[in-house]
Amino acid sequence: MSRRTIESALLARIRDIGKKNKIWRSYIGMGYYNCHVPHTIMRNMFENPGWTTQYTPYQPEVAQGRLEGLLNFQTMVCDLTGMEVSNASLLDEGTAAAEAMSLCFRHNKRRRIVLSSKLHPQTVSVVQTRAEALGLDVVMVDLEKDDLDSILENRDVSGILFQYPDTDGSIKDFSEMTAKAHANGTLVVCASDLLALTLIRPPSEFDVDIAVGSTQRFGVPLGYGGPHAGFFGCRQSLVRLMPGRMIGVTRDASGHDAYRLALQTREQHIRRDKATSNICTAQALLANMAAMFAVYHGPKGLKNIASRVHNQTLLLAAGIREAGNDVKEDIFFDTLCVVPAMQQSEIQHRARQREINLRYYTDERVGISLDETVKMTDLDDLLWVFGYQGTAEQLVERIGLEEIQKKSIQSSPFRRTSPYLSHPVFNSHQSESRIVRYMKSLENKDISLVHSMIPLGSCTMKLTSTTEMMGCSFPEFTELHPFVPLEQSIGYLQLFQELEEDLCEITGYDRISFQPNSGAQGEYAGLRAIKSYLEARDDGHRNICLIPISAHGTNPASAQMAGMKVEPINVARDGSIDMKHLYAKVDKHKHNLACLMITYPSTNGIFEETIREVCQLIHDNGGQVYLDGANMNAQVGLCRPGDYGSDVSHLNLHKTFCIPHGGGGPGMGPIGV
Ligand SMILES: *Cc1c(COP(=O)(O)O)cnc(C)c1O
Repeated sequence: MSRRTIESALLARIRDIGKKNKIWRSYIGMGYYNCHVPHTIMRNMFENPGWTTQYTPYQPEVAQGRLEGLLNFQTMVCDLTGMEVSNASLLDEGTAAAEAMSLCFRHNKRRRIVLSSKLHPQTVSVVQTRAEALGLDVVMVDLEKDDLDSILENRDVSGILFQYPDTDGSIKDFSEMTAKAHANGTLVVCASDLLALTLIRPPSEFDVDIAVGSTQRFGVPLGYGGPHAGFFGCRQSLVRLMPGRMIGVTRDASGHDAYRLALQTREQHIRRDKATSNICTAQALLANMAAMFAVYHGPKGLKNIASRVHNQTLLLAAGIREAGNDVKEDIFFDTLCVVPAMQQSEIQHRARQREINLRYYTDERVGISLDETVKMTDLDDLLWVFGYQGTAEQLVERIGLEEIQKKSIQSSPFRRTSPYLSHPVFNSHQSESRIVRYMKSLENKDISLVHSMIPLGSCTMKLTSTTEMMGCSFPEFTELHPFVPLEQSIGYLQLFQELEEDLCEITGYDRISFQPNSGAQGEYAGLRAIKSYLEARDDGHRNICLIPISAHGTNPASAQMAGMKVEPINVARDGSIDMKHLYAKVDKHKHNLACLMITYPSTNGIFEETIREVCQLIHDNGGQVYLDGANMNAQVGLCRPGDYGSDVSHLNLHKTFCIPHGGGGPGMGPIGV
């Protein structure tokens, strides 16, 4: 078949698969919201290889454009949260929260963390999983009912994590809690929502130490759960403990300002197992899109979007109450938690008739979260679901706008008075012609694969074909909320299943997990799998992880996070593993050997000829082999890790397969076992 025929066949097939996904209106919330991706950002960034194919900006002289974009991201996060410093994005809200809790632990070395029960459930899960490996004890509390004094008084709590507005939509004052925590030497972390923060007081006004969250609703498609950029802001005094990349402004020899990565000695590629985290790829493209959304709309535009969402929610709440339902919270932004007059199953039945997804709690409650795409007719349908007889417009006429506005944030103590996004960049590009020129001017400062090849050592950079990219912007893939019922995501499930089969065939493994959203996350997940396997065999004491010094910097950082102890293995002059040193180390640690992490081919580009012998040696001594398969293209079709003795690997689909690199993400690091 010719290339042309293959490409059109591929598109037809991906369209067919997409059709199996059902796009209902989802008001499920929980950190994921519909949004209008501005078409100009969609076309000029998301679908533009000049933005999607750069490498991570380690060479600032060829990356000034995307560094400026990421600096805008940091400014946006600092302004909206009120925090003093911000990093240039993390992988998502859950991992940002987990990173924040590890920061608290590194800061004061205390082994208990307190989580509010009003966090998004997935945030709680991620933090719990991470805490386990670090040996931290997690305490869940109801911040309104439980006695915080008695929890804090032993001075053994490193940090408290709460959400504002919380997962049920409530907005509460946390100043007292923060003061108590600080009095006991405990740090305070606030998970928040950037759109809400355009209207409500920023977390900094409660004196929190760290603010985290997702920037998804700033013009990044839902995509059934990602990729989206997480954010992380903190006090200046904590900056050296902050995870991830940070952009700084510096002055060059001729006195011009320039951008570059700042404080890199915190990071894994230099500090290895002493790094502040294993973050490498961190959704850079999506962070750039979110920042550009703020540049395009500006502070007034963002506030208009937020006010509209809030006013619709006020209206909806009034109608739902009119129809005899109980709305739990007093002050809210965009989310209502309803105890319906009808049974929950009846609400569900009615919602289904209108092809609407809501959040159904395990008790009778129902959650509804609105967003910038909601129209008056959508409100009519929601009112109908909850038994209100009439339209939204009739409701306004009946009750009156003034009455509806009584519960507004604007007339509450939470009204935001501090300014934000006053920098000229957020106030100069509000027309289409200006925003396209701005995006193009940044793009033109960078080297990407539209200019030349990028000849890097280990990271394999490739130009993802247009055909491969097109499916990414089909609504059948972009508009799905991650928590829709499975029968609405049959297309996605088919993709996962077929991709798993293909990757198993390519790697020689038996099963693949698609959860990890970067290579480093894959390493972490894979090492945790090894740890659990060893525990299941009553080998839980095994915690030594051998890592040749030719391994990627994320390897030792991930091993440390997974609760393992790193022992480096030397390399010989030609760059291959020093086998004598390996034998000696294995012998020394044979009773506690958990695994070996090997990058193959190594970052020196070497296919170790001794790979089978190495794997056998580790197995003979009770350990497992983790093979870093980030750059699997060196092996595809030639050999398979599963055949020559490896047990677990991650693959970086943003390096070897057809996910674009995006200047440091989107990432996708599935693991094979
Ligand atoms: C890129 C890379 C990683 C890290 O992957 P991220 O997606 O950036 O986290 C790990 N190992 C090797 C060999 C790599 O090249």
